[in-house]
Amino acid sequence: MIGVGDMVLLEPLTADSFLENLRNRFDHNEIYTYIGSVVISLNPYRSLPIYTPDKVEEYRNRNFYELSPHIYALADEAYRSLRDQDKDQCILITGESGAGKTEASKLVMSYVAAVCGKGQEVNKVKEQLLQSNPVLEAFGNAKTVRNDNSSRFGKYMDIEFDFKGDPLGGVISNYLLEKSRVVKQPRGERNFHIFYQLLSGASDETLKKLKLERDFSKYNYLSLDSAAVNGLDDAANFRTVRNAMQIVGFMEDELHSVLELVAAVLKLGNIEFKHESRCNGIDESRIKDKNDLKEMCELLGIEQSVLERAFSYRTVEAKLEKMSTTLNVAQAQTKARHKVMGVLDIYGFEIFEDNSFEQFVINYCNEKLQQIFIELTLREEQEEYVREGIEWTNIEYFNNAIICDLIENNQNGILAMLDEECLRPGTVTDETFLDKLNTICGEHQHFESRLSKNSKFLTDHSLPHNCFRIQHYAGKVLYRVEGFVDKNNDLLYRDLSQAMFKANHNLMKQLFPEGNPAKVNLKRPPTAGFQFKASVGTLMKNLQTKNPNYIRCIKPNDKKTPHIFTDSLVRHQVSYLGLMENVRVRRAGYAFRQPYEPCLERYKMLCRRTWPHWRGPAREGVEVLMGDLQVPHEEFSYGRSKIFIRNPRTLFFLEERRRQ
Ligand code: ATP
Ligand code: MG
Repeated sequence: MIGVGDMVLLEPLTADSFLENLRNRFDHNEIYTYIGSVVISLNPYRSLPIYTPDKVEEYRNRNFYELSPHIYALADEAYRSLRDQDKDQCILITGESGAGKTEASKLVMSYVAAVCGKGQEVNKVKEQLLQSNPVLEAFGNAKTVRNDNSSRFGKYMDIEFDFKGDPLGGVISNYLLEKSRVVKQPRGERNFHIFYQLLSGASDETLKKLKLERDFSKYNYLSLDSAAVNGLDDAANFRTVRNAMQIVGFMEDELHSVLELVAAVLKLGNIEFKHESRCNGIDESRIKDKNDLKEMCELLGIEQSVLERAFSYRTVEAKLEKMSTTLNVAQAQTKARHKVMGVLDIYGFEIFEDNSFEQFVINYCNEKLQQIFIELTLREEQEEYVREGIEWTNIEYFNNAIICDLIENNQNGILAMLDEECLRPGTVTDETFLDKLNTICGEHQHFESRLSKNSKFLTDHSLPHNCFRIQHYAGKVLYRVEGFVDKNNDLLYRDLSQAMFKANHNLMKQLFPEGNPAKVNLKRPPTAGFQFKASVGTLMKNLQTKNPNYIRCIKPNDKKTPHIFTDSLVRHQVSYLGLMENVRVRRAGYAFRQPYEPCLERYKMLCRRTWPHWRGPAREGVEVLMGDLQVPHEEFSYGRSKIFIRNPRTLFFLEERRRQ
């Protein structure tokens, strides 16, 4: 074993020793390390020979501690408790961009697919589940400066199994798709993969039908400087995606409809406006060259005058390059009779130099996940103690509930205040919102009763004037309020949705139900913040009913390169992922537990009375062993099926003795 495979056993436990252990293991190609049952995963940025069918066999039906740490061990444990103990599972994968979350989610899915049932029907379902990935990635992933295949949305997938443990299907929910990327990409980044894939990989005939040209440079939405990405074969990927869409269940005409929309978006990007001053002094915008508009209308079956009108009346203010933050949540229906494994691949904490509304909601989501982590870890710990008949010891930990409350409280939480501001008549600006925030969250700190509640809203004189700061559990984050109000409103002018609804194109109509004049809803649509909070709430409720399994992904360097381990970068992630805290919670009660049999098997060599064979119950053998080694009584407890060891030092001592 290189270094310590389980951080719970690390002695002494300091930020330095933690880092050193990760580095040591990483240098020896050991990218996985445990904190109890949590898997830390370091991105190797190269393919390691550790995902072969032989490896799958090796980890299949084996216990966690028998083999070296691996994501397969976690997947196996989760799948087996789902199948054999009927416990719904969720796999929570977090980490920053490029840390390896999506790859990890695919590894878990492919492991489960490899070990669960066989047969024609089951194999078809497995294929569909696995092939959902290339489809989602084509439309939701893009090359960014941090990751050549960055997911620009959060993903949660419930995979359903029957009583035998054979997969039946899945339900996918998406969170917070970065829609703004369609119209504008930061320097060195690309638009969503599908645009490049379509232009590179579609046949001449298809392109002709879609009124497209192969040349990226013909489209405003496709940035030029970074169109080709090393190691990415857009044309080949287009075939993969087409194929995947067919496997997932798109009919040929549906597939074509989707491509028509993709083409229409490219056309839309080419429509340019010019200002015209009218004699009454009002500026009006007009479309410069109408060919793209015409083709877009042909693709979508919209009458040109309708779309033109919708564009020209409002477009200048509606500016399509707005950052949009709505989310699209398919209601995950989990039927009681099915066993369910949920896989969550969602953005981790984001602490940039410039943090805006997006970072705010993403970090809120991570606070909620941390809550779940605390709740579920402690609950599980407690339940295990009860099961094993061990006395419950209270665990000290930092509870981040007050930060969640600061953000989501219905009366004076930050999201509620933002909504209130967005709905208030009169002049509403980001500054009026900030004023309100400072008054309510900041000044109440003077009142004794509010003191603890808002102590995570940091007010000090060093704050830049347009910012507020929150003490998140993972660190302090400074948010700039610019854009908060607009992004929260996330309004699409009604003329546009009505024009889209008039399209003679089924898919398009379905995408803009609010444009249906028969169903005019005068109520404003819910704000982006409100929707996000609601969908995070649903997600949390869903996760709470399941047994959690954690994968914490870490990015070892920001060069997308193998073999480099940048201390400062890893240290930062260890800190904001709360990993040290994680070890402490795990060690606070009984750091280590092991069923009697493997425990005896491992340490029986340390005692003459148990070596080489112990005849009798394993538990008694372990008692003899502990007595013989003179381990102090307060250091361990005997549960029904396991021994619980309080301090890692004890285990260390045992391991040490084994090595002598
Ligand atoms: P984002 O938040 O941007 O979506 P992510 O955490 O999902 O990032 P991935 O896309 O999973 O990151 O990983 C980035 C890249 O790192 C992958 O495209 C792959 O090249 C490499 N990578 C990640 N995990 C592994 C692994 N286990 N083995 C080999 N390469 C990996
Ligand atoms: Mg990803």
